[in-house]
Amino acid sequence: MQILDGKTLAAKIRQKAKDDVASLKKQGVTPGLAVVLIGDDPASHTYVNMKEKACEETGIYSIAHKMPSDISQDKIIETIEMMNKNQNIDGILIQLPLPPHIDTQKVLQTVSPQKDVDGFHPFNVGNLVLGLDCFAPCTPIGVMRLLEEYDIDPKGLDTCIVGASNIVGKPMMNLLLNKFATVDICHIHTKDLKSHTKRADLLIVGVGKINLITEDMVKEGAIVIDIGINKTQEGKLTGDVDFENVAPKCSYITPVPGGVGPMTIAMLLANTITAARKR
Ligand code: NAD
Repeated sequence: MQILDGKTLAAKIRQKAKDDVASLKKQGVTPGLAVVLIGDDPASHTYVNMKEKACEETGIYSIAHKMPSDISQDKIIETIEMMNKNQNIDGILIQLPLPPHIDTQKVLQTVSPQKDVDGFHPFNVGNLVLGLDCFAPCTPIGVMRLLEEYDIDPKGLDTCIVGASNIVGKPMMNLLLNKFATVDICHIHTKDLKSHTKRADLLIVGVGKINLITEDMVKEGAIVIDIGINKTQEGKLTGDVDFENVAPKCSYITPVPGGVGPMTIAMLLANTITAARKR
């Protein structure tokens, strides 16, 4: 069993991002990222702080628009439109989830597709489905980059994705399909989850449920990617996979923390630099 070490790879990508930013600055371009954060969800604040810190370390200019949870949708849209026009901003990120009175899709669709470094705009979603050049969501591209680093080619692999959200499972499905994996995607209404997971050469889980995947649900020698982030009662970070018992059966597995999580931020920096290059 080998650990897929996202922490080390993310550090390597962040160093390269730093070098790329330095050379862009020599050409007079400072990549810029705007983050829109609504309300006071502690997890969202933590993620935004991590993203701001990563930008600062890399030399990317970042600005956070922090707004109260009762802000109007019109005001959010106005802020995004302002960022769309701002020549110093290459990427715009809307930290999800948004408060219930806000139409999330309407807000995401206001972001200019050229600045949509999270890949949530239907223009980029469509291009991803078609296998065209686009911004794709950072967590799934982080998983693809991690597989590539360990020379794991998804082509022909029986792959099972558990979790079918717009930001994790669905883009993961398209990225894998574009690399010719055979993809099976499961969700809350899937009958007999185990019958799907057990067949997988590559099992990718992004649900948000501690120990959802137990040892009996995993094929011997499988590659297991755990995207889930959960907090135990003791406040420890853990994934969706019962790591201790599943790991001995795997050929490769990601730990939580230190697996997919650090890759997500690294890919956000990479996407912002790509947007800046296209400025
Ligand atoms: P979500 O709530 O939007 O989607 C969860 C998905 O899991 C849904 O498709 C749902 O149908 C499915 N699901 C729920 N219970 C299930 C069950 N018992 N069996 C099978 N499927 C089930 O969540 P999300 O935003 O996609 O996030 C999923 C997890 O990934 C969370 O733990 C989140 O914190 C984590 N996450 C991690 C990163 C990272 O950088 N590592 C990034 C984004 C999300």
